[in-house]
Amino acid sequence: MMPNNSPWLHQLTVTRPIDTLQSDIATDVAIVGAGIAGVMTAYFTLKNTDKQVLLIEGSRVAHGATGHNAGQIVFEFEREFYSLVEEYGLSMAADAENSVRGAWILLEELYQEAKLTTPMSSFMGYNGFTDIERVVEELKNNALRKEAGMQIFQVYISEEASDLDLIPKEYRELYNLVPHTDVLSLLETHDKRYIAVMSEKKGCVNAAVLIEEIVGYLLSTFKGRFVLCEETHIKEVVLEKDLAILRAKEYSITADKVVLCTNGFEKFSIINNAGADIDTKFHHMVRGKVGYMAGYLEELKHPPIALAFYDQTAEDVESVEDPYDQKPYIYMTRRPYELEKNEKHNLICVGGPDRSLDDTTEYATEAEYSEEATTEISDFLHTTYKNAPKDDIDFKFKWHGLMGYTPTSIRVVGEEPKNKVLMYNLGCNGVGILTSIYGGKRIADILSGAVLAPSLFDPRAVYFGAKTLSRKKRIRNIATG
Ligand SMILES: Cc1cc2nc3c(=O)[nH]c(=O)nc-3n(C[C@H](O)[C@H](O)[C@H](O)COP(=O)(O)OP(=O)(O)OC[C@H]3O[C@@H](n4cnc5c(N)ncnc54)[C@H](O)[C@@H]3O)c2cc1C
Repeated sequence: MMPNNSPWLHQLTVTRPIDTLQSDIATDVAIVGAGIAGVMTAYFTLKNTDKQVLLIEGSRVAHGATGHNAGQIVFEFEREFYSLVEEYGLSMAADAENSVRGAWILLEELYQEAKLTTPMSSFMGYNGFTDIERVVEELKNNALRKEAGMQIFQVYISEEASDLDLIPKEYRELYNLVPHTDVLSLLETHDKRYIAVMSEKKGCVNAAVLIEEIVGYLLSTFKGRFVLCEETHIKEVVLEKDLAILRAKEYSITADKVVLCTNGFEKFSIINNAGADIDTKFHHMVRGKVGYMAGYLEELKHPPIALAFYDQTAEDVESVEDPYDQKPYIYMTRRPYELEKNEKHNLICVGGPDRSLDDTTEYATEAEYSEEATTEISDFLHTTYKNAPKDDIDFKFKWHGLMGYTPTSIRVVGEEPKNKVLMYNLGCNGVGILTSIYGGKRIADILSGAVLAPSLFDPRAVYFGAKTLSRKKRIRNIATG
């Protein structure tokens, strides 16, 4: 049995001293959780406001989902665009997607500003599909994007695919017919069941190394305004009318605002002394999933790629009420990887197998790996990836991470309607690097006093619960709180 062995933490070297909370302290903004969401929230708050920021982490920087993910930079909601349009309307759904896609630029600007050196690559990535009706769902998404004046994703369908007549005529301009071999070649697969491919910009980064480097930049650039406390678990957040008191160890932190960037897990309580109860709602808001991944090394001879394999039917997507219950898809990346200094390989990482958690507090980072996941990932590689080793695969790394799913499957970003002292940038929802970055910027905008248009990231949108109200009512509620 293998413990949780992440390639990203393997490469993480921390040279700065580890500070923990040693006394009572007061700050303008207390951010809880130093994964990518907390670090990016700290960065934008320091950059765009003049506030003091205290970043508090129960364990160490990047040791949560950020250090246990697939490191694939990709725009993705774990929901179809058309379902967001049905629920929130075209304009709000389009704003949300455009904002998260825009996080690519925020990340590139940060690279330039801080002269970051953590390797990051970007290239065209591909999503493959086995079912023509499932592809029609993507075309439906694209038709709505076109209507909203948005960028659409290129779709290539095999001219040999059966049931091409199931594609509605009005979608004809939204895809290209190509030889089946082109589809297989883009996906680097010999699995002939894949009959279509959709392309989009994707990238690869070690998010743990990246945010450690950003933390170093913040500590040296914002001396006197930025404090980081690790190994400081917040056990209670008490909200008053204009301030919050956070309890950690025997000490108290007093803050004008507290931003929870905790991925969603409730090993702490919230007491609201200035309004209705928040605790119960918050605690039941986020459910958990453990995502399993495995990676092996090969000679550095192929360029980086990021692929996703949707062996799903349209029925698989439409028949589930809740996106949380959706059949998983497999995602894969290949990137240069330095195992030890100057020892360069390609690292092939595959994820997809997951396990739902009834009680999210059950998750333990140190829990052993699931051997069922190894079998599933090996089977996938042998049947699908054309460059996979023919024999048993020697996985150098096997790891798991926790994903928090909100009821809407959308990250929650903004002020708690029952007490605006409390803010959130949380809810991993499967794919969260770009959304965490955008979330950090949005929180800083709110803190700097900007009046933002209602958004489907607003906590109220989550509280009112997906599909329980008519769309008009939901939007009215989101707008008025
Ligand atoms: C297997 C897997 C694969 C993934 N693949 C991708 C991918 O390829 N692309 C992508 O975009 N996203 C991916 N994700 C999702 C992405 O990694 C997450 O959305 C993102 O890292 C979340 O960052 P975060 O900062 O919100 O959470 P985390 O990184 O989990 O950080 C939350 C932090 O809060 C701390 N904390 C919690 N409670 C307290 C408390 N009470 N006191 C103090 N500290 C506390 C935790 O210790 C933790 O460090 C994947 C996730 C998993 C698990």
